[in-house]
Amino acid sequence: MIRYCPTCDRTSDKARFVGEFCEFCVAEKVSRRFPTSARIEYCKRCGRIRTSEGYVTLNRESLGKALAKILCNSKCKIAVKKYDEASAEVTVLYPVDSDHVSFDKKISIKMAHQICQDDYRKSSGYYEAVVQLRGEKTRVLAMSKKLRNFAERRGAFVSKTEELDAGIDMYLSDKLMLRTFFLYNRLKPKASYTLFTVKNGRRVYRDTYLLKLD
Ligand SMILES: [Zn+2]
Ligand SMILES: [Zn+2]
Repeated sequence: MIRYCPTCDRTSDKARFVGEFCEFCVAEKVSRRFPTSARIEYCKRCGRIRTSEGYVTLNRESLGKALAKILCNSKCKIAVKKYDEASAEVTVLYPVDSDHVSFDKKISIKMAHQICQDDYRKSSGYYEAVVQLRGEKTRVLAMSKKLRNFAERRGAFVSKTEELDAGIDMYLSDKLMLRTFFLYNRLKPKASYTLFTVKNGRRVYRDTYLLKLD
């Protein structure tokens, strides 16, 4: 039996139906109520944008995720066709009952400039642990390079390096990362802990590790 869309008279042999209406009329109705602007949180230091997974590199995929979170609370899917600083052309895939409709939309974008936590911490000299590398100079240098690479691959950073006569002191942003580094490389440094601050009634310690490389 051929059905007729009550709004536009299209027939079910020509158009897909979503509930009582043809998909074009349903898409148009959803599209009309769909927001047309979004505020994206953007880190001016590293150029990353904030999504539900934290700060990530800006590209079509991450922008689509960020927009879906803001515009439909991640209920819809958004494919970004192209974008610039001020707008994005997107295709929205929107669920309707157990079906879905899709429509194109132009979203105007406001980039809200901020500094992400990583960059804030870098600029404020944040650290959780200090490693004191001691011993023969070339071995100390090689170890400091290895540790820096390890830290950066895991999203941590070295906030300060001090070169001393006795060796090198490295200040690191993430003490869990550092413990993993020691485990991976079967290193057994001498550890000490100093109370750094009390946060929400909890004691926060800074770790110091003395690593002899002779
Ligand atoms: Zn229709
Ligand atoms: Zn940043």
